[in-house]
Amino acid sequence: MTFSRFAPSPTGYLHIGHAWSALFSAAHGTMILRIEDIDTTRCKPEFETGIFDDLDWLGLTWPKPVRRQSDHFADYRAALARLDDMGLLYPCFCTRRDIQDEIARADSAPHGPEGHLYPGTCRNLSADDRARKMDAGAPYALRLNMDAALATLTAPLTWHDRYRGQQTATPDILGDVVLARKDTPASYHLCVTLDDHIQNVDIVTRGEDLFYASHLHRLLQYLLNLNIPEWAHHPLLLDPDGKRFAKRNNAVTLRHMRETQGKDRTDIITLVRDSLPTDGPWRWHLP
Ligand code: GLU
Repeated sequence: MTFSRFAPSPTGYLHIGHAWSALFSAAHGTMILRIEDIDTTRCKPEFETGIFDDLDWLGLTWPKPVRRQSDHFADYRAALARLDDMGLLYPCFCTRRDIQDEIARADSAPHGPEGHLYPGTCRNLSADDRARKMDAGAPYALRLNMDAALATLTAPLTWHDRYRGQQTATPDILGDVVLARKDTPASYHLCVTLDDHIQNVDIVTRGEDLFYASHLHRLLQYLLNLNIPEWAHHPLLLDPDGKRFAKRNNAVTLRHMRETQGKDRTDIITLVRDSLPTDGPWRWHLP
């Protein structure tokens, strides 16, 4: 049996873009459903129930029980501790504002696919400075020291995307990423990578917006000695204006389409088909 996965966050009702992502996942294997609710301030139980209702309505099934990330903080803490023991994490005390100011000051701040990278301000703090800030109770995030992590490699890391082919991992394009925050004990990157391993996911199916994240996840797999799955990134559905669908736009939620507009599963599939680019290998996987 091949396991794929769909991993929504219960921060709103699912929309048509999620329907595509879930249908795409189910077309690649037995779809594991995972609730990504580490940001407990934004997640709500009614949205979790909404996820189950909407997927059920789409005719999808998934193995039970469903893994809910907020039940597994101990797993993520253990993985963080392992990276820390390897000397690959450092505390970062910078606020968003500090980072912007530092970038504005620097002549050429490093740039990644999603904008400026963390300029490294806290990477070289002296042990004394770190201790002083910690003693003063300054809040901090934990960042991965990317150079130190890459220095542990003995050969380039590769990974395989079913539609884009063999990739050489270039996680440095994301810089010193945050792996834990003061208000969330573990970041998306850490949790998702660990969970895909724990849940024996064979093929990580998800949107193209996370293609760059997969480079980092491949590095985390290496550092934590985790299984290496295959990946399949799908294009994002765009509205008629060429914009991504957003959870905050109630009109495109599956719930609204079902309850207010009286649409059915076939209507959703037609809408997905009509909103996708006309060409691409993933079209084979349309229901
Ligand atoms: N939880 C993420 C989201 O809702 C998806 C993560 C993933 O598929 O890796 O956008």
